[in-house]
Amino acid sequence: MRSSASAPVRPILVVNQTAQMGGGELSMLDLLAGRPGLFRVVLFDDGPLVSRLSDVGIDCEVMPVVEGLAHFRRKAGIGAAVRAFSGMPSPLMRLAALADRSRLVYTNSQKAAFLGGLAARLSGVPCVWHQRTVLDSYYSGFARIATVTASELLCDRMIAPTRTCAEGYVASGGSADRVLVIPDGFDPPRFVRDAGTRMRVRTALGLESDRNVVGCLSRLTRWKGQHVLLDAVARLPEVTVLLVGDALFGGDAEYADSLRERAGQPDLRGRVRFLGHRDDAVDILCALDAVIVPSVESEAFGRVAIEGQLSGVPVIASDLGGSRETIRQRETGLLVPPENPAALAEAIALVLDDPAFADGLAGRARRYAAETFDIHGIRTRTYAVFEEVAPGCTELPRE
Ligand code: UDP
Repeated sequence: MRSSASAPVRPILVVNQTAQMGGGELSMLDLLAGRPGLFRVVLFDDGPLVSRLSDVGIDCEVMPVVEGLAHFRRKAGIGAAVRAFSGMPSPLMRLAALADRSRLVYTNSQKAAFLGGLAARLSGVPCVWHQRTVLDSYYSGFARIATVTASELLCDRMIAPTRTCAEGYVASGGSADRVLVIPDGFDPPRFVRDAGTRMRVRTALGLESDRNVVGCLSRLTRWKGQHVLLDAVARLPEVTVLLVGDALFGGDAEYADSLRERAGQPDLRGRVRFLGHRDDAVDILCALDAVIVPSVESEAFGRVAIEGQLSGVPVIASDLGGSRETIRQRETGLLVPPENPAALAEAIALVLDDPAFADGLAGRARRYAAETFDIHGIRTRTYAVFEEVAPGCTELPRE
């Protein structure tokens, strides 16, 4: 399936697995939107990202790959790898043909990296991987070795959004010289928290203006830790919690059901709202008194922590991984021990009960995040990496 726009002469071929709108996809979209004429995107499934790319004028092709790839997970061993990659020759050949007509292959997700990297090598085109996962103990030894070995063979440069990702790669045996840390970028003016939007969103959701409301903006999946947030809010009877996001991937529906069941228990009944996936998540953020990132595993980056800071909404996040790098403890947000509902409840109460403290955090956070994560600077740094491996590749084709 194809969508929109005229393809540039010898574009940069971007390969991403999913067309669902996760954080990696939103970051990719922001990165490419700076110079849409440069890129041509291949996705391995159909979904909302297709029209979002088309809206900003980026050429996109959906190229379904074999079924087995969906089942290749981070705990996978050799058997799963063989199942995943057998039957791959035909999509690989199609991808290699596209790579052959490109100046650079840029991959944005783990599975896309393997296939995109192979296609690049078959075509003799340079390749940049965006390493958006933390290769830590949650991965099988096989998956870590496979990733590092493949990176050595298939990629010329790797970009990691945090030191957490870069260090996970190096600790798994990857070369520190290959990887460069560049955070994801945001457009600060998009995240202005104004009283009008706050009131409008609260009215639409039937929330009183003085009600204490906290929220989590994330797909529903266990490692994102919504269950910890519910256990924390159960201790704070004056607080309502908004869960914004849906179960996007296989296996997450059961977790979502368990959250609904928990929300129906007496200590939470009537105080948990499941809003599903929202394209206006940024507006919903404005209606919150605090945004919570209760992950129980390391965020590779964690966009929501930045979005909260840019919006001037106090951010409370688990003291783990990417959040440790993107939040300055007690200066621009609060970091709390993971999987500890009592500590999380205490931090929420601190922010709600002390408006001067909350305002101080939020003000500093806005300035810090706008300076550090501005999309314009991030694009320049990322495009410079593309230029380093494929000189001239970010010059727009002549009209
Ligand atoms: N988000 C959204 N709608 C929702 C829930 C989340 O648009 O209903 C956005 C959220 O604002 C953030 C992204 O999805 O930009 C999630 O990114 P993050 O890096 O926090 O998590 P990931 O899913 O990539 O692990």
